[in-house]
Amino acid sequence: MSAGRATWLMAVGIGLAAFAGTDVRLDRALAQNAEIQAAAEPPALITVGATSLRPTIAPECANRTDVLGVSRVVEIDTSRGPYFGEQYKGLEDDFLNFGEVVITFDDGPMRRHTIPVLDALDEQCTKATFFAVGRMAVSDPTTLQEVQDRGHTIATHTWSHKNLASLGADAMKREIELGFSAVAAAVDKPIAPFFRFPYLGHSKASRAYLESRGIGVFGIHVDSQDFRTRNAAVMQRTLLNRLERNGKGILLFHDIQVSTARGIRELLAELKTRGFRVVHIVPKQAATTLPEFDAVAAKSIKGRKKATTKAPLADRAVTWPVAGEEAAPPAERPAPPPPQAERRAPPAVKDWANPDNDPWQLRSMGQ
Ligand SMILES: [Zn+2]
Repeated sequence: MSAGRATWLMAVGIGLAAFAGTDVRLDRALAQNAEIQAAAEPPALITVGATSLRPTIAPECANRTDVLGVSRVVEIDTSRGPYFGEQYKGLEDDFLNFGEVVITFDDGPMRRHTIPVLDALDEQCTKATFFAVGRMAVSDPTTLQEVQDRGHTIATHTWSHKNLASLGADAMKREIELGFSAVAAAVDKPIAPFFRFPYLGHSKASRAYLESRGIGVFGIHVDSQDFRTRNAAVMQRTLLNRLERNGKGILLFHDIQVSTARGIRELLAELKTRGFRVVHIVPKQAATTLPEFDAVAAKSIKGRKKATTKAPLADRAVTWPVAGEEAAPPAERPAPPPPQAERRAPPAVKDWANPDNDPWQLRSMGQ
């Protein structure tokens, strides 16, 4: 990366509201004004704290101009519960400039697809954010730790991918909190207070709850629709066409989908060719978790470890039941049936860790 290309633009503006002692939410102009050039320096962040959440750049990536890299690291202060993505028009804190993208992956980890995704990101010396599902994290902590070790941001996507728009207060809280506790327990390190609603489905109550917990909500701008095809080329075309129309945005992929596992490598190279620039989002503070949910998550992780010690060849992609799950509160209602147009999808099966049989992906978002 040349000195110019390697210039790390560090936007600390998202934390400026707190810095200035006001209660103003992120102000885009402030954020842009606060970009600080630190030529040829690694992406250390100005804000003190959260050392373990800082991005890491492999030495072999320094001074590379032939890869996508990371053009900017944006540190996000979630203390006021900000929103990002086109689903939150009027509320959105849009920090992206034209030509900038944030790469995100939902629903994992799933080793056989997550690892090729990580290898592709490494090849381009770039960074992404992974919105992991709690149950998936508990079933495969090793893979999620690898995601973290390779310098990506770890965020959450509920405990079991339920549509929070349709849950009562207790079940909604449990999905959110156990998601955070399980994902943090799986990586055994602080994670980001970043959250994405399954199906992007939310209620006033769930949004208020996340705001009260100082969690940042991430929607999307550009959907790869990777769950609708196994064909890498179709996924790539969908993503690139939509991105060209939008000009920038938060990109959505799923690291449990075969079209993404197969196609992400070529897609990232194409983003580089077309001149898009990657913004890596990192949190100002780590997510806080609640002790009662940490206890459930710890028990679940422990049980999983015991089982894998006994049967080391067990399929790590099989989801793992949480302690006490069967005793879910009565307020927890089943998810609503999928819309009419999507009922042609194969029936839901218990092995939903298998992307071929994944009920949530088959009715996901419905765009
Ligand atoms: Zn999802």
